[in-house]
Amino acid sequence: SIPLTFFAGIGGASRAGVLVKGSNYLDALSRSKIVVMDKTGTLTKGVFEVTKVQAVDISEEELLEMTAMAEAFSNHPISRSLKEAYGKPIDTSLVSDVEEISGHGVKANVSGKVVQVGNEKLMNSIGVQVEDIVEPGTVIHVAIDGKYHGYILISDMLKEHSKEAIIGLKRAGISKTVMLTGDSKKVADLVAADLGLDEVCAELLPGDKVSKVEELLATKTDKEQLIFVGDGINDAPVLSRADIGVAMGALGSDAAIEAADVVLMDDDPSSIVKAIGISKKCMRIVY
Ligand code: ADP
Ligand code: MG
Repeated sequence: SIPLTFFAGIGGASRAGVLVKGSNYLDALSRSKIVVMDKTGTLTKGVFEVTKVQAVDISEEELLEMTAMAEAFSNHPISRSLKEAYGKPIDTSLVSDVEEISGHGVKANVSGKVVQVGNEKLMNSIGVQVEDIVEPGTVIHVAIDGKYHGYILISDMLKEHSKEAIIGLKRAGISKTVMLTGDSKKVADLVAADLGLDEVCAELLPGDKVSKVEELLATKTDKEQLIFVGDGINDAPVLSRADIGVAMGALGSDAAIEAADVVLMDDDPSSIVKAIGISKKCMRIVY
């Protein structure tokens, strides 16, 4: 039978905003050793502000409009932010043949033109040359009918409790904190330095995140646990691969919440520290 303490532990965790999907995960949490986190939406707010629009052979307004239209059907945090910045309703009847290329961006037919919006990787894949942008932030490039038309610079902010979460994890005995992201190395290094993370891997495709987690799994004993914390979009495979998959409950995608073993209801990364604390207390009482 399941000791009553487990119910108390799961109840205590839920009062701290952490949904633990079974007593086995309480036991696992108490043995966590490595914590791997996604950047966008997990450590950062995932709400990007447009800081610059650099249009080439097109007006800034038109560049923003074509971008927002191409992004019409995407639910990615970057897409939501670009549409918010455009600020006008989108006539979706003008948008067709939409393709979302994970870790790259989107492609769509907008009023008969092929609009491609995304990172340098996407531009390289379609043979469009881009310059190195030195300004800080995430660069979203735009090509229309295969021709470069400029970029939109966007920037995200750390969540209020991200730094506290990393400090708390260290205090809780976590030996390694790692951040994985599909964003550029430039942005990732800034965030990692700010937060004092042990390791950072950038410009990863969803499959690369799984490989990286597998690499880290091989560095620990069976008893020690690896936690992955993610916000969802494209994260379901890596959430399942980790010993303990943790998803954001409010911002997170349904697929991620489904694939996760633990859900942070308030999207606060420091709640995972609370959950580890509760799990340890609970396991001390059980044994
Ligand atoms: P993360 O690991 O930060 O969650 P993703 O794998 O979701 O990142 O995306 C990686 C990168 O791919 C983004 O930083 C962005 O450059 C590009 N990208 C992804 N989706 C979109 C989109 N809808 N529009 C534009 N760019 C996108
Ligand atoms: Mg993501």
